[in-house]
Parts: sequence; C-alpha cells; structure tokens
Amino acid sequence: MLDEFGRTIDYLRISVTDRCNLRCIYCMPEEGVDPLSHFDILSYEETLRLARLFSELGITTIRLTGGEPLVRRGIESLAKEIHDLPGITEVGITTNAIALTDKFEGILASGINNINISLDTLNPVKFEKITRRPGLEKVLEAIDLCVENGINTKINCVAMKGVNDEDFLDLVSLAKDKPISVRFIEYMPVGKNDFEKMVPSDEIIKMIEDKYGKMFLDHETHGKGPATYYKIEGFKGTVGFISAMSHCFCDSCNRLRLTAEGYLKLCLQYDIGIDLRKLMRDGKSDEEIKNAILDAVQKKPKQHTFNNYDDAENIEEKGMSKIGG
Ligand code: SAM
Ligand code: SF4
Repeated sequence: MLDEFGRTIDYLRISVTDRCNLRCIYCMPEEGVDPLSHFDILSYEETLRLARLFSELGITTIRLTGGEPLVRRGIESLAKEIHDLPGITEVGITTNAIALTDKFEGILASGINNINISLDTLNPVKFEKITRRPGLEKVLEAIDLCVENGINTKINCVAMKGVNDEDFLDLVSLAKDKPISVRFIEYMPVGKNDFEKMVPSDEIIKMIEDKYGKMFLDHETHGKGPATYYKIEGFKGTVGFISAMSHCFCDSCNRLRLTAEGYLKLCLQYDIGIDLRKLMRDGKSDEEIKNAILDAVQKKPKQHTFNNYDDAENIEEKGMSKIGG
C-alpha cells in the first residue's frame, strides 16, 4: 500500500486490549481507564480477519500491543494464527513482561521472535513509582529468558525529566553483557500538552558518551521502526533512540494502528481513521473492507504536529494505553 505521499505502508500495530496490569505514569491515570466492554473489543475471529485483509493489502509486519497484550487470554494462539497468515513475515509483541515468564512457552511456540519489553529503571522503588505496581524482578527474569532463547529483544525506556533521568546509564549497562537493544523513547504528550518532561535523545547520547566514550552508528537493520541504533565499544548489545519529538521521522512512516475496538488509526497524534469493526459487524464483504482501508490510507496525515500542539486539529485525546504505543 502506498499513501498520498508515496510512503509504503507495510507495518500494523494491533492493540488486543485496553486493559493493563500496570499503571505507568506516562500512559495511564492512577485509577486506570474505563475498560471497554467485551462486546466493544474485537473478537479473535474479527482481529484475525482484519489481519488477513491487511496482509492481502501488503502489510508484512504485525506487532501486538495494548494495554498489556499478555493479559488477554489466548493471545498465544492469536499470535500463532497471525504468524501463519501468508504474506506476514514477522510478528512481534510489545509488553511490560510482567506475565511473560508464565506465558513464555506459548509465546515461543506462536513463532514470535521479536519482543519489546518496557522498562524505565533498574531501581525497584522507582519501578514501583513509575508503574504504580511492584514487579521489577519479573521483568528482569523475563529479559533473561528471552536472551537465553535467542529472541530478538529490545528494552523500551520512556525518558522523562525528573523521573528516570538518573537511571539511563544503568539501563544502558544491560546491553554490555546481553545481546539486546536498550532504546530510549522521547516522551510524547499524547492526549495532553505537557512537554517539559521530554528529554531530547541528543542529551541522552551525550550522557552515554561521557561515560562510555564515542558511540558509532549501527547501520545494520534492527526492524521496521523509526529507531536509530548505536554501538558502544565492548558491548554485546546496542543502544537505540526513538526521537519522535526532536527529530521528526514522519516522512518515512510505514505504519497503521488498529485499536482494540477495531478503529484504524492513521497517525499516532490524530484521532482520524475508520471504524473497521462497524464495517465488519454491518456485514461488509472482504472486498468492501479492503477498499475502505485503501481509501482511508490516502488520508494518512503527512506528519505529527506535537511541536505546534495548539494549532493542530483532530487531536487524539486517548492515552497511549488505548492506542497501543
Ligand atoms: N503494555 C505494553 C508495554 O508497556 O510495553 C504495550 C503497550 S504500551 C502503550 C506501548 C509502548 O508505548 C511502550 O513501549 C510504552 O513505553 C510506550 N509509551 C506509553 N506512553 C508513552 C508516552 N507518553 N510517550 C512515549 N511512549 C509511550
Ligand atoms: Fe500498561 Fe504499557 Fe501503558 Fe505501562 S505503558 S500502563 S504497561 S499499557
């Protein structure tokens, strides 16, 4: 699929639930969010049907997300069925890893070989402050399990001023002995307008180079996302940066997002898109739904305007847990 600006769209993030076993401060309010009803959430049959239609339109890579995808019962078999669709070359999952060790066998059997784990600190007290729940030990155990089993593992740290900026170097040290990527994501003010917490990637790069010496750009491909990767002398793993705020990468955006209630989102920042659940439940044919998707893709915005928030229209008001990151 090509959009109006000639971008190839081949990557789809599917959110399988809006529920979560954590309450990260950058993603959810302390009290959680009003959960979608069972009826509102796409059934596995509906999700699989859409995954098939998207694969027929040229989507090759699917990432399962949430809320927390591992809290949805039966996620392992859904992952396997998506993995087995012709045209799908890669299925990954983005998880907080609290339930990963318990579900690891099923996840491994599903064919997923690419797991992104959210982790913002190695300090247990701070972990609990950021996620508003205990669980650091479980996350660390799951990371080791992934590494032992040869999974392509990436750590996602949302960098926030005054919250975890003293923890970045500890997190980087995970990549010293383990062949994993530790990635820093610039905090995005999705659903709200608070920029002051954002730490630009360049600041983190300087902090790391001050400690470990010059880093070198890593040109080997590390997946289909917008991250830039660096190598550090003597490290088994790499360090990555997702700099949506300070370095706009919208001109190479390849992705769409499907929310848990079946809304196809065209851009992270805007709420524009199309209600695919309604089309399915209204009895539309595969061809009709595929045509609706193709039409929608032509309306994919050129770029986000996080940096000019006040002038933008159709701004997304949902938090990340309802979008899938
Ligand atoms: N629960 C899973 C997890 O935490 O990995 C998947 C869903 S979470 C919404 C997906 C990704 O979005 C995570 O890597 C998380 O760190 C990131 N994220 C959430 N809120 C964010 C924000 N305000 N800015 C940048 N990234 C954010
Ligand atoms: Fe849950 Fe992931 Fe959001 Fe944290 S970032 S509250 S783990 S959905």
